[in-house]
Amino acid sequence: MSGGAVVTVDDGAAVHDPGWIYVRGNRVAEVGPGDPPASRLRHAAEVIDAAGCAVMPGMTNAHTHLFQSFFRGLADDKTLLDWLRDCIWPAAVHLDADIAYAAARVALVENLRGGATSVIDHQYIQTDDGINDAVCRAADELGVRLLLAHGWADRNYHPILEQSAEQAVASAEAARSRWDGHDDDRIRVELAPLIPWGCSDEAMRTTVAAARSWGRGTHIHCAETAVEVDMSLEERGVRHVPWLDSLGVLGPDTQLAHSVWLDDDELDLIAASGSVVVHCPVSNMYLASGVARIGDMRARDITVALASDGPGSNNRQDMFEVLKATVLLQKVHHLDPLLLQPADVLHMACRNGAAAFGMTGAFGMVAEGQRADLLVVDLRSPFVAPVHRVPSALVYNVTPGDLRDVVVDGRIVIRDSQLAVADERQIMTAADEAARRLFTRAGITTRLTASHP
Ligand SMILES: [Zn+2]
Repeated sequence: MSGGAVVTVDDGAAVHDPGWIYVRGNRVAEVGPGDPPASRLRHAAEVIDAAGCAVMPGMTNAHTHLFQSFFRGLADDKTLLDWLRDCIWPAAVHLDADIAYAAARVALVENLRGGATSVIDHQYIQTDDGINDAVCRAADELGVRLLLAHGWADRNYHPILEQSAEQAVASAEAARSRWDGHDDDRIRVELAPLIPWGCSDEAMRTTVAAARSWGRGTHIHCAETAVEVDMSLEERGVRHVPWLDSLGVLGPDTQLAHSVWLDDDELDLIAASGSVVVHCPVSNMYLASGVARIGDMRARDITVALASDGPGSNNRQDMFEVLKATVLLQKVHHLDPLLLQPADVLHMACRNGAAAFGMTGAFGMVAEGQRADLLVVDLRSPFVAPVHRVPSALVYNVTPGDLRDVVVDGRIVIRDSQLAVADERQIMTAADEAARRLFTRAGITTRLTASHP
């Protein structure tokens, strides 16, 4: 790759403008400023001309629910618990593996087009044993880096969606034996208790121990809304993070999605344990959940990754939007325009995303030895040009429509803005049919079920 401005997101936030990248297999073999050496050009099977473009590491969408791509726009203007009970549950219980596959395909294409080459899917719909497999298959075919976080709740949840700890471990083990480590670790499987109020202490201990025995992590929604923290105080007498700490859940292998309503002691516990926070600013605004204490987390050196959350509460999976929302929300909330800089959020989306994935240092940076996950962004678009500072343009200007090429694990999955690994039109048609099938089955009338193809 030559001619583009290479935003490395390395420790010094170096930008080589222009710069070049030599990829061998699924790794970055060499990176440098200026023009590529003639010897490298001679040996390259293909040279991608990135003149007029920026090249940056692929981002990690560190918390989403892929199946919700069929639920977006269904339940606008509600709080989290009303949204869940009134809109998500009634149709989610009718999901099967075929529908989940169609939803995952379209959701993963959306992630790629939104700049996410790695995705953590908190997959908590256990109505059909084939759903985990369908999601992994979709990621495999589309070339996406996937961490399937097998979600479970054993109490207080919709009965059809509940699983005991033993069932959760068995289901995750089935997915794990088939997919974990697949394609040089491009696909991994971990365990994901859904929410503190849906998980019993004993079940927590069981699934966390199982995940650790596999060398994998635990992913959980934490302190997303003030109401949930109050519920915890009333029932257990503790806030979410001390509860997790009392069960031995915290650690660098634990990802705490949202983490909005935390007090100082909780931030200290997270910092001391090395747990990763996954910040979902657009979803937090959409559901009016609150504003996470990102500045206080950064002051304690807490690793904060970024995410869209499920498309049911966003309604997009667009990491460029997440970059911008992260910065703007903190600035306006604290009335401090200096609070976060473009380089800070690029680091969060790329480097900290790899930490959330459980692969710290393996990707998220354009540097020798890294997995070759790269985005080529056109800087000559009407939304972006002219560009005075490239990192600023990537955070404040760029839209998914400006993304030209996407490389995951050394493979070009989007080329010249066209999906190169599957027929996107066919994916969209199949998704439309599957969504119609789902909501018809659930007896939910929307514009979709009322219309004819
Ligand atoms: Zn979520």
